[in-house]
Amino acid sequence: MSENVIIIGSGPAGLTAALYAARANLNPLLVSGNEFGGQIALTNEVENYPGFPDGITGPELTELMKQQAEKFGARFETDHVSKVNFQAHPFTLETENGAHYEAKSVIIATGASPRRLGVPGEMELTGRGVSYCATCDGFFFRGKEVAVIGGGDSALQEGLFLTRFATQVHIVHRRDELRAQPILQERARENSKINFVWNSVVEDIRGNGTVNALDLKNVRTGNKSELPVSGVFVYIGHYPNTDLFKGQLDMNEEGYLSVDERLHTKIPGVFAAGEAHDHIFKQAIVSAGFGCMAAMEVEKFLADLEHQGYAALQNGSR
Ligand code: NAP
Repeated sequence: MSENVIIIGSGPAGLTAALYAARANLNPLLVSGNEFGGQIALTNEVENYPGFPDGITGPELTELMKQQAEKFGARFETDHVSKVNFQAHPFTLETENGAHYEAKSVIIATGASPRRLGVPGEMELTGRGVSYCATCDGFFFRGKEVAVIGGGDSALQEGLFLTRFATQVHIVHRRDELRAQPILQERARENSKINFVWNSVVEDIRGNGTVNALDLKNVRTGNKSELPVSGVFVYIGHYPNTDLFKGQLDMNEEGYLSVDERLHTKIPGVFAAGEAHDHIFKQAIVSAGFGCMAAMEVEKFLADLEHQGYAALQNGSR
């Protein structure tokens, strides 16, 4: 039997799509990926999600969204979609755990993942001092010095969080101007545990089993230096998780899915919501909004499908 709608991904976009689809009586199935909640679940303090004046942790926010969708009948599977076929309708999806699904419609809410530096030592020392999640790993660096790479919101927000544990947080940025929002810049500049290392890039992460230093290069002077640290947290942006859809859906050169203003991909019945297509706003609240929009479009698509059949909808989309 075909599912009405399968939602791939469990960040704010996927969970909001599940809530709206469930409240529209579509009995949605959400396949969450191996780690529930996406990027927001790795964030310690969420201060700009409306409705939480005192802030809320990412994992709590995710759990509340899940509970709300479940209350209206959304179903959840912890699994990773490994293959899709959008060339024939109903669509088919296969997962790492060996499940096969058929779906009349799909919402892609696969989000984005942290970019890596791509320097020697990074892969080998990941989980041994190299981290992409201060919320998960900050505690291990109690009483130690760490570096944070990047100059955006994530670098400053997570750098500030790390000051709770580390004796010193060195924020290494490739320019001398931050991209982060002013409120975070102000807090970081006022925090005595934060030290900015400007105009510098990491050339090498060194360690013997665990990280013990970074080799830095000043991009203005060419000077090289060593920064002794026990941990390095990389926050240099994200890339969309869309490899799975290559060859079937249109995307730009960075991998962001192409959608119209109603979040339709070029395949009728396949929609995208959140950071899999949004390369501009990248905010939890925006992703949640896109999830809502995609679920409303699914509802309309399924009604049209019932009345007109898929071939007519395909012809209409040309
Ligand atoms: P981002 O805004 O893209 O910033 C990435 C940072 O990494 C930039 O400072 C960039 O430098 C630097 N960078 C990129 N590639 C690099 C490389 N190869 N080597 C060294 N540095 C490199 O990414 P983000 O901070 O993860 O934020 C992503 C989105 O989420 C943004 O829209 C942000 O506003 C949002 N966000 C919001 C909040 C919040 O509202 N509290 C929190 C976290 C994230 P340049 O500046 O020189 O380009």
